[in-house]
Amino acid sequence: MSFILKHPSMNRLSVIFFAVLLSSFNLFPVEAQYHAPAETIFTRQDSLRGSITPERAWWDLTYYHLDITVNPVDSTIYGSNTVTYKVIKPFGLMQIDLQEPLNVMKVVQNNSVLKFKREGNVYWIELAEKQEQGKIYSVVLTYGGKPKVSTRPPWSGGITWKKDKNGLPFVASSCQGDGASLWWPCKDHMYDEPDSMLISVNVPGNLMDVSNGRLRSVIKQKNKTKTYNWFVKNPINNYGVNINIADFAHFSEIYNGEKGPLDCDYYVLKEDLEKARLQFKQAPMMIAAFEHWFGPYPFYEDGYKLVEAPYLGMEHQSSVTYGNGFNNGYRGVDLSNSGWGLKFDFIIIHESAHEWFANSITYEDIADMWVHESFANYAESLYVEYYFGKEAGSEYVLGTRANIQNDKPVIGIYNVNHEGSGDMYYKGGNMLHTIRQIVNDDKKWRNILRGLNKDFYHQVVKGSQIENYIIEKTGINLKPVFDQYLRDIRIPVFEYSLKGNNLSFRWNNCIPGFTMPLKIYISGKEQVVKPTPFFTNLKLETENAIIKVDPGYYVATLNITGK
Ligand SMILES: [Zn+2]
Repeated sequence: MSFILKHPSMNRLSVIFFAVLLSSFNLFPVEAQYHAPAETIFTRQDSLRGSITPERAWWDLTYYHLDITVNPVDSTIYGSNTVTYKVIKPFGLMQIDLQEPLNVMKVVQNNSVLKFKREGNVYWIELAEKQEQGKIYSVVLTYGGKPKVSTRPPWSGGITWKKDKNGLPFVASSCQGDGASLWWPCKDHMYDEPDSMLISVNVPGNLMDVSNGRLRSVIKQKNKTKTYNWFVKNPINNYGVNINIADFAHFSEIYNGEKGPLDCDYYVLKEDLEKARLQFKQAPMMIAAFEHWFGPYPFYEDGYKLVEAPYLGMEHQSSVTYGNGFNNGYRGVDLSNSGWGLKFDFIIIHESAHEWFANSITYEDIADMWVHESFANYAESLYVEYYFGKEAGSEYVLGTRANIQNDKPVIGIYNVNHEGSGDMYYKGGNMLHTIRQIVNDDKKWRNILRGLNKDFYHQVVKGSQIENYIIEKTGINLKPVFDQYLRDIRIPVFEYSLKGNNLSFRWNNCIPGFTMPLKIYISGKEQVVKPTPFFTNLKLETENAIIKVDPGYYVATLNITGK
C-alpha cells in the first residue's frame, strides 16, 4: 500500500529544526525508552485475528479454491472457498475467519455437514472426522452476502463498486490490514500461505474479472454470465488475492528478464487505453531497475499484470492494481519535493516493488510491515538512481525526510494485528539509506538486497530475520541502528564541540548504548568517527576546522557551543 501524506507542506528545514529543538530542550533524556501509549487496548477479537491460535496452528494450508459469483446489481458475493490443508498435529477445532456482515452458511467435509459456531469475525468449525497427522483434507465453506463497502480504498478495506464512463460496473477489492476475511472465508493470518490457488469469478457476460496468476479458462454459463478461472502457481499472501471486474481493454508485451521471457499483461478501462499504452511503458523500465537491484521478478510463472482499479493502488500479487491517473508522481505530486518524484509514476514503481518486498518476502505479523514499506519506499530511490544516477537517488531519499513524523515506533504491537507508525515508509527508507552509507560498499549493498530476495524467496518472515540477515552479511553490528530507528521515536543527535584542535563528540537523544559509525567532513576531509553516548575526543591536524556531517545519514547535528 502507499502512505497518505499528513503534512505535505512541512519541509526539510522544519524537520531539522524540530530535531535540534528536541535535543536542546532535552525532552527525551538519554536513558528514556519509548513505551506504547497506555490507552491502546486490544480485544479478544484482535488476538484471534492477530495471533497464531491453537485452532490455526495445527493445520498447514496447501490450496484454496475460491469460487464466487459477484453481482454488481445488488453488490453481493455468493459462493464457496474450498480450503485444503495438511494436518500437522491432530486437533478437532478449526478457526476460519469471515467478517461481518458476510455469513458462512454451510461447512462440508467429505460429504458430511459440519457444525460450527460464530464468535464475531471467527468461525469455530467442529471436525467430525479424525484428522490424521500428515494427511491432506479439505473443507468447503459456503458463504455470501453483501460485503463491506470500502469508504476510503485502499486504506479502508472492502469492495469498491463504481462505474466506467459507459455506465458499466467497475468493481475491485482491497483489504490490506483489515484482512482478506473481509470478502472471503480463510485463515486470515499472514504466517501461512497456500502453495497455489484457483480463483473462479462469475460475472455478468459483458464484464471481465482479472485476479491473480494466469487466466486458465473462461466458461460461458447458460444464464449469460461468464466464469473467469485464474490460477496462481506460487504461494500467495491473503491480502494479495483480488478481484477486478470491468469492461476491460487488454494489451500485453513480453519482457526478456533475468529468468527469461516474462509475460506482462495490462488491463485498463477502454476509455483509458491510449493513456495507458504510454504510461505503462514504465512497467518494463521498473522490472529492469528492480531486477538489477533485487534479482529476478519473483513470479515469472504467474506473469506480471498491471490492472486499472477504482482507487489509488495496491500490491496485489502478480496483478498490481493501478489508479494514479496515468500521471507521474503520487497523484501528480512529488513526495520528495526534490523534482525526482515527478520522473516516474509512483504507483507503478512503489506497488510493483512490493512484488519483491511484500509478495515474495512477506511479513508474518503486520507489526513488521516495515519489511514491506521501508523497502518499497527505498526502492523508489533505487529506481531513480538506476535511471538518473546515484546523486539523484540520494536527493530523492533525503527529500522524503520532510514527511517523517517520529510519532510512534515503526514496529507495531505483535499478535493483535497492529501496524506501527506510518514512518515505516520514509523513515524506514532513510534508515536503509543510512545503513548503505555505513556499509560504504555499493556492490556489497546490492548483493545484500539481491541476497535477501534469494534467501527469503517466497517466504514469510519476522522483521528480526531481515535485521539479522543484514547484520550478518554486512558484518557490522547494526542492532543498535535497527533498535533506534524501528523501536524508538528519537532521531540521534551528533553533538560536538571544537576547542582549538580538539574535537569532542557523542550521540545524544538516543537509546542506551547507541553506537553507529558516522561519516563527517573535517574542513572537507572525509573521516569516519564512531560516536557513543559518551564524549570522545579527537585531535585534529588544524585549529578551527569546519565540521560537516555526511547528509546521507538520517541524524541531527548540534554544535553544542552554538558556533
Ligand atoms: Zn506500499
